Amino acid sequence: MSDFEEKDLEKEENDTEIEEVKEEREDKEAGQEETGSDKKESEYEDVCFICRRPESKTGKMFKLPNNISVCNDCMHKTMDAVSQFDYQGMLSPNFMDDLNKNMNEKGYPNIRFVNIADLQGEGGIPNKQKIKKKKKEPGQEPVLDIKNIPPPHKIKAQLDDYVIGQEHAKKVISVAVYNHYKRVATGTMDEIEIEKSNMLMIGPTGCGKTYLVKTLAKLLDVPLAITDATSLTEAGYIGDDIESVVSKLLAAADNDVEKAERGIIFIDEIDKIAKKKNTTSRDVSGESVQQGMLRLLEGAEVEVPVGANSKNAMVPLTTINTKNILFICGGAFPDLEEIIKQRLRKQTSIGFNAELKDKLDKEKDILSQVTIEDLKQFGMIPEFLGRLPVVYTLKALDKEMMIKILKEPKNAILKQYQKLLELDEVKLTFDDGALEAIAEKAMKKDIGARALRAIIEDFMLDIMYEIPKDDNIGKVTITREYIEGTGGPIIDIRNAGAVNPDELNQIEG
Ligand code: ADP
Repeated sequence: MSDFEEKDLEKEENDTEIEEVKEEREDKEAGQEETGSDKKESEYEDVCFICRRPESKTGKMFKLPNNISVCNDCMHKTMDAVSQFDYQGMLSPNFMDDLNKNMNEKGYPNIRFVNIADLQGEGGIPNKQKIKKKKKEPGQEPVLDIKNIPPPHKIKAQLDDYVIGQEHAKKVISVAVYNHYKRVATGTMDEIEIEKSNMLMIGPTGCGKTYLVKTLAKLLDVPLAITDATSLTEAGYIGDDIESVVSKLLAAADNDVEKAERGIIFIDEIDKIAKKKNTTSRDVSGESVQQGMLRLLEGAEVEVPVGANSKNAMVPLTTINTKNILFICGGAFPDLEEIIKQRLRKQTSIGFNAELKDKLDKEKDILSQVTIEDLKQFGMIPEFLGRLPVVYTLKALDKEMMIKILKEPKNAILKQYQKLLELDEVKLTFDDGALEAIAEKAMKKDIGARALRAIIEDFMLDIMYEIPKDDNIGKVTITREYIEGTGGPIIDIRNAGAVNPDELNQIEG
């Protein structure tokens, strides 16, 4: 080989080396870009490695090494498949021994396979997940302690701070709750078994049924599930199955079984599951639901899914005993008044009696005279009613009650607005005429206290919009004229006298 040829070869070798180094550098740079783009991609949703659905569809994902994400469903499916694989005879008593013998023969004497089931003792692979109890946060004491339940009058006094009127209902509910939690706390189940005090609450819409139960649950610091009977159907039919009410309670108790077992379930619109009249087909959302609920009301062990409201293979199940769960059913029971009136008419006279008819029509609180017979006629089955021993009614709200609801409860709507404006250092007041006008408007809507908020929000919009514009405003007084749309509110300027309402019109303009 000549000198020249040798040099050429060396040069070639050098060149290839240089190219290799270049490629390496490019690779590194590409790698860096990748990690850079990874960072950028973290703004995007994760996608399930198995089913390819994004995080927004699947919910939170399991993160595995190498940036792999797997959704909850697929993870459960995989676990299911694995456990089924085990059960298909692979874990026969001798399977592990055979496997280990095999490994020995193949020259791996030091490797042993361990059957995880052996480590878990008798039970083998658990098919029920034990639910971990959450630690209680310190310093969160409930107003009413259910372990040391205060007497009924104290419970009622607490309710009085929030719920206006409905004296009878508050009294009955306080006694029932007192008895219920006393029974739970002492666990007296000996010779004299104290019956559960499940309740049936009857009252027109917006009179405070749900509010009463919500307030009670908050004061007692027990989990509360509010469900609607309208969507319930017999198991196997389209709709929510009856046991789903218990899953809701479990969810409300943060999956803490023990806490859920002391909770309250409020089933609203219970009148919607009355027996359907004149029907020949199967009554899957009426009588059957009542039948299905009997077991729950009385106290039964129910298997419910954890963290979901439908049972399927992917979700772990847990057992909840409904023995100590307080069930409160509520409904407006339209037409029940008519049934009661008919009965009263029959009872007192035979035939047509104009005077009595007049008297009955004028009487406001017919509903409070309800009997079990009336409810049966309405379409509730006797077994169902038998499991709701405490029956009481709530009154429709009148004008005075509406006014009180506006200003008296601890978290009254007016107080909320006053607080908001106070932050702007503006004093908000309502004169008596204004309160009456709001109540009158609400009465016309016939949806109870629910109308109040809508009305107030409507006229407070302008106030909340205009007031912060002017730092000089120190006080606003809402008047009847303003509510009725015939005038403006009275505006007081800081350190000065009242301003003519017309001036606000100018501001508004
Ligand atoms: P329903 O009887 O139809 O269940 P709610 O209890 O949901 O009616 O009442 C609707 C709202 O009206 C509640 O959130 C509450 O703010 C208010 N409200 C109704 N009745 C009363 C009452 N007696 N005292 C105080 N607020 C009430």
